[in-house]
Amino acid sequence: MALAEDFFSISEETEIVQAIKEAEENTSGEIRVHLEGHTSLPVFERAKEVFFHLNMDKTADRNGVLFYLAIENKSFVIIGDEGINQKVEADFWDSIKNSVIEYFKIADFKTGLITGILNTGEKLKAHFPYQEDDIDELPNEISKG
Ligand code: CA
Ligand code: CA
Repeated sequence: MALAEDFFSISEETEIVQAIKEAEENTSGEIRVHLEGHTSLPVFERAKEVFFHLNMDKTADRNGVLFYLAIENKSFVIIGDEGINQKVEADFWDSIKNSVIEYFKIADFKTGLITGILNTGEKLKAHFPYQEDDIDELPNEISKG
């Protein structure tokens, strides 16, 4: 889908992927970003579908985190897997989402995502610290469509 393909420049994508790597140096949590031009489903439902489609529920500690952005819908959802949700405070994702939305409001989507990704790494460190023998269970990349 062209909208998602062209949303970030190659260098912006590189910066976002770099943020994922940096965040995953703090935590065993696995972060991914998914961009979509448009969805006709309720966005939360669609984000969950993408989460499963990307096999993000298959991590050993159930600590995958998906940042899902539907461009035309102007919607943004963060999905954390159940291992995380059992450990963090109820407003954990809302507080991260709020830090992202601040930048989205001024149309700085790259900085918004990077801020959210790095925040997630910092905040997950307490519950899911990085381990010496860490495996990169989910690819650090932006998926689309
Ligand atoms: Ca990992
Ligand atoms: Ca990863």
